[in-house]
Amino acid sequence: MLIAPEALIADLVTAEDAHDAVAACLAAQARGAAENFPVIRQALGEGRQYGFKSGIDRAAGQMGVKAGGYFPGNAARGMINHQFSVFLFDPDSGRPLAMVGGNLLTALRTAAAAAISIDRLARPDARVLGIVGAGHQAGFHLRAAARLRPWERVIGWNLHPEMLPRLAAIAADLGLPFQAVDLPQMIESEAIITITSSPAASLMAAHVRPGTHLACMGTDTKGKQEVEPALVARSRLFTDEVAQSVSIGEAQHAVAAGLVRSQDITPLGAVLAGQAPGRQSDQEITLYDGTGVALQDLAVAAIAVARARALGLGLTVEV
Ligand code: NAD
Repeated sequence: MLIAPEALIADLVTAEDAHDAVAACLAAQARGAAENFPVIRQALGEGRQYGFKSGIDRAAGQMGVKAGGYFPGNAARGMINHQFSVFLFDPDSGRPLAMVGGNLLTALRTAAAAAISIDRLARPDARVLGIVGAGHQAGFHLRAAARLRPWERVIGWNLHPEMLPRLAAIAADLGLPFQAVDLPQMIESEAIITITSSPAASLMAAHVRPGTHLACMGTDTKGKQEVEPALVARSRLFTDEVAQSVSIGEAQHAVAAGLVRSQDITPLGAVLAGQAPGRQSDQEITLYDGTGVALQDLAVAAIAVARARALGLGLTVEV
């Protein structure tokens, strides 16, 4: 069994790797070659969440689980709030193959999924990118979205405005003008990424113009919410995994209110595989409910393991 600790990951997996791996996973799901198993997620109190996401990609020969969660007290202790480890197993024998640090991998795969949704579903002429959120994930999302589309400017809102300068610095690094705005000004955006840990909607229907694409990435647990249900209901909906979208994703609230049904939500993989249409008009709002799936975690972890083995990095132990 190979142990690839967190400190090694940045040298093993790039954002481009994550993009390709996530796109391949979504398509494998659409072909029926891969599946995510039901998520276990427990609230520990004080905003802490602990759980497991697992799955199998038969085509890629990957099986495993990502364990960990969200611990909002970490930032004050100099750690990031997410703490994850990915465990890979041999799908034939069940033997453990690897334990891989999952923090950077989570940020890379989540940002890649948001960016792929923007690339496939935003209008071709979208030039203004909005970001709601300015925590650890937000910068990765900005970088991933900037890699795929020619933005002219970026606007950002965060409940805690003191966090926005960090996002502004990343925009500057990318050569993009950045402006901190109030939520109503989000209406200037043609694509909006939401990536907060909010328990209540911030982005309202009145903040979004027709034709916008929304990549809603923050809601990955029961009880979180970033977007007004009426806006979800007004949008053409896409997701990484329908079962997660209606139970732990952004759509959970619109579903509970009877505004949306699971059959209204299209897997993004079906669009990538050419099985379903994406955006159907310049005026419709498209919304990608990115709930975060195990298959993407396994795919990026498998890249880390293959590179570590090739480079002789990590620690090999007999189990
Ligand atoms: P973080 O703790 O670094 O940042 C939290 C962000 O949420 C900050 O912008 C903060 O200002 C904002 N926020 C906190 N409380 C809020 C409130 N009440 N209302 C509005 N905004 C609020 O977290 P992060 O690592 O950037 O992750 C952000 C969110 O994304 C978390 O909810 C996390 O669980 C989720 N996430 C989802 C996936 C996925 O696959 N979908 C993957 C990773 C993280």
